[in-house]
This record gives sequence, C-alpha cells and structure tokens, in this order.
Amino acid sequence: MKKKLQSIVLAFMMALTVAVAPVGGVITGNGNVAVIEAASQKTINTFTINSLYNSYRKVTGKGLRGAKVKAYSQGRLIGSATVRSNSTYSISIPKQPAGRTVTIKISKSGYKTRSKSVTVKKDRTSGVSTKYVYVNGGNSKSKIYHKTAHAHNMEGAIKMTEKQAKARGYRACKRCW
Ligand SMILES: [Zn+2]
Repeated sequence: MKKKLQSIVLAFMMALTVAVAPVGGVITGNGNVAVIEAASQKTINTFTINSLYNSYRKVTGKGLRGAKVKAYSQGRLIGSATVRSNSTYSISIPKQPAGRTVTIKISKSGYKTRSKSVTVKKDRTSGVSTKYVYVNGGNSKSKIYHKTAHAHNMEGAIKMTEKQAKARGYRACKRCW
C-alpha cells in the first residue's frame, strides 16, 4: 500500500517536472537571471586544430587548459580528451577518410562552448607504399633490384615498383639496403 502511494507520488512529480521545466534549462523563477548568467560566460580564446590526415589515429591542437575536447565525425562522437596543462590536446580517434569533416567541441564550466572543424587531408607520404626500385636491364641477367638507376654502374635499369619486382622473382640488393 505504502509502495503504491510512493510510486503514484513519483509519477505525479515526474509529470509536473516535464510540464514546468523549460527546454534544456534550470528553473530559476526569473528569466533575467538566466540571461545574465549566459552573458557572463567567458570566451575560450585558445582553440586550434592541427592538420588532420587520413593516416592519423589522433587529432591534436591547442585549447584552454583543463577544458574538455570532443571530436565528432558525421554527427557521431569519435573521441574525447582533456586539454593538458601545457594547453595542448590529443584525442584518439579511428582513422578518417580524406575529405571527411571532423568537428571539435571545446567546453569548460563558466565558458561558452566553441566548435571548429577541419577537413581530413590525404596523406601522400605514408600509407601508400609505392616504393620504386631498379632491376637490371641490358645484358645483366641477375635477379636483383637496386635503390637507384645507376647503382654499381648499372646500365639500362628498368624501373618498377618493389611489389612488381618481387612478383617477377627479383630480390633486394644487399649493398643498396
Ligand atoms: Zn644495389
């Protein structure tokens, strides 16, 4: 009996809360108070995002020390961190494809939340392993590939990718590497 009464009271209170509470706000009983509080929020001045490449597993930058930074991709949270005492942050994220927009939101109590976005760049230096090598051309029949076209006075070298050279039965020159 007592339990039932409690649950009725609870349900009533919940209904009341839903009816009275303003959207996303606190009941102050005075609209002006809320406005003044919003205006007194400080601005986060230190906030940058470093270049982000499609090979990276983290997004880094600078921010207000102690602030929370959250990374979003396509509206989904992909990682978060806290800005270190040296004003830098590093958020671990899954690799993002080139062209994708990643948004960082920075927030701290007493400060206005800010957000910035970066476009993921294509990393041309890593990931794509198109390493070129030079195999013997001309009269040489050795099945060895070299680092440069004229290694060991080689003539008529044939340029191909290391993958192609290996597929054709060539092996790396021990003097070049
Ligand atoms: Zn060599």
